[in-house]
Amino acid sequence: MDTDVIVVGAGPVGLFLAAELELTGARTIVLERLSNPAGETKARGIGVLAGEMLTRRGLGARIAEAHARGLEDFARDHGSPLGHFAAIHKLDPGLTAEPDRRYTYIWQPELTSVLAAHAAELGVSVHTGHEVTRFESDVDGVTVHAGARRFRAGYLVGCDGGRSSVRKLAGFDFPGTPALLRTVAGRARLDGEVPATGRYDTGTFMHGGGTAVGMVGTGELDAAAPALDGPVTADDMAASVRRVTGADVSITELHDVRVFADRARQASTYRIGRVLLAGDAAHIHSPSGGQGLNLGLMDAANLGWKLAAVVKGERPEALLDTYTTERHPAGEAVLRNTRAQSALLAPGPHVDALREIVAELMDLPEANRYFSELLSAVNLRYDLPYPAEGELTGRHCPDLELVGDDGRASRLSEHTRTGRGLLLLPPPVRDLAALAPGLVDVLPVAKTSRDDAGALLLRPDGVVAWSGSDRETLRRALETWFGKTSPGAM
Ligand SMILES: Cc1cc2nc3c(=O)[nH]c(=O)nc-3n(C[C@H](O)[C@H](O)[C@H](O)COP(=O)(O)OP(=O)(O)OC[C@H]3O[C@@H](n4cnc5c(N)ncnc54)[C@H](O)[C@@H]3O)c2cc1C
Repeated sequence: MDTDVIVVGAGPVGLFLAAELELTGARTIVLERLSNPAGETKARGIGVLAGEMLTRRGLGARIAEAHARGLEDFARDHGSPLGHFAAIHKLDPGLTAEPDRRYTYIWQPELTSVLAAHAAELGVSVHTGHEVTRFESDVDGVTVHAGARRFRAGYLVGCDGGRSSVRKLAGFDFPGTPALLRTVAGRARLDGEVPATGRYDTGTFMHGGGTAVGMVGTGELDAAAPALDGPVTADDMAASVRRVTGADVSITELHDVRVFADRARQASTYRIGRVLLAGDAAHIHSPSGGQGLNLGLMDAANLGWKLAAVVKGERPEALLDTYTTERHPAGEAVLRNTRAQSALLAPGPHVDALREIVAELMDLPEANRYFSELLSAVNLRYDLPYPAEGELTGRHCPDLELVGDDGRASRLSEHTRTGRGLLLLPPPVRDLAALAPGLVDVLPVAKTSRDDAGALLLRPDGVVAWSGSDRETLRRALETWFGKTSPGAM
């Protein structure tokens, strides 16, 4: 074996997965076809759960640096600092149940650089200019071909984006729905009479006031519109503005143009034997609401420690099945809400009426909160194979404030950089530490910032695997995720 795991693709998901694998003890190499994979300007933010996950690995300050700038860019390009559902900009994070859990704005190239540096610090080697074209899987491992080179590993993970070669070569199913809309978007200077932002007969024209310009609609699916992967010239962009709005403009500057569609597809399983998928390789959907990275980075967080535990022989291979069981529903939820957003972005008077009603609903604080939480996935709860006590169990834990026995205050994320499980024990249940010698880190605390978060068992991906005081359930939780507990401890 050259390594324990080969990750294909040095996008954000591949880099973060590789870092998680190394951190939790699996040797990992990344194969990337491009020589500079950090160039893509697609995403402008990463969502609540992914932001908290990166903070748990000590990257909080680095992503926070980007946030203020990113939010400013967002507000300028969208004409509003508020989040949106189907371009209805009304989502106010202050109305959610946990208002301090916020979206982090960071442009994808900057994020990719942060993650590349993080992975390198942990010892991940990234082989750029290595396109994977073929692999063979057998009972002991996987042999991967990239150009003239061959690499051998125990497992292969495709993080190679929406058109994933790994997914196709391994024969994963990828069912879903075709495009309803197509978007042509970029940074452009428009000369002439700039049409009003808004909805037209075949689509929506978006122009926040800066240089960001976008046309989304059914008309952009016409044969005359720019093709998905083809080049887009200034004339194409001007024709697109004309097609949607009827206005004649000329384009004097054009950068970062993209044409994308809202096809929504998801692999039925994320694992076939020794081959797994994560990120866009496992699911594609429209970028509405900026959820792709939240989903993909949390796939990586879920898979990394589990795969490392299996590779090290600490846990049975069956642990890997919980990756699909937990993450497939998370993906399904995003496909559902992005399909709904596409329906609301489609042109036509019936949709206009529906948008008005949805916009009115968003004025109700409860509904506003509903839409925010739908997009942030903070309420995502995994089914655990034992009784779950407490509001947080099965969910990703927020970055709690803790007070130690010595009165010192800290954040939960200051104690999670090892990538190990963490057992948080307030005074009445300190003796429970005896169940887990060596299995997880143990942190005695005097109290936490939430009344419903006292004693907690946190998985490496930040999921609360147990809370409360029930010893037998804690034993089951520890044995499900980490291994044999101490028999003498009951
Ligand atoms: C216009 C647009 C705006 C978006 N905005 C947002 C947003 O604001 N927030 C958000 O969360 N998401 C957003 N998304 C989605 C987000 O960009 C993706 O979800 C994200 O890029 C997925 O990351 P990934 O690492 O899974 O895949 P990718 O970023 O696609 O990375 C895959 C990598 O694999 C490499 N690769 C591919 N094939 C091979 C091969 N055979 N061998 C070796 N390497 C290979 C590629 O070169 C690439 O580097 C947006 C998407 C678009 C198109």
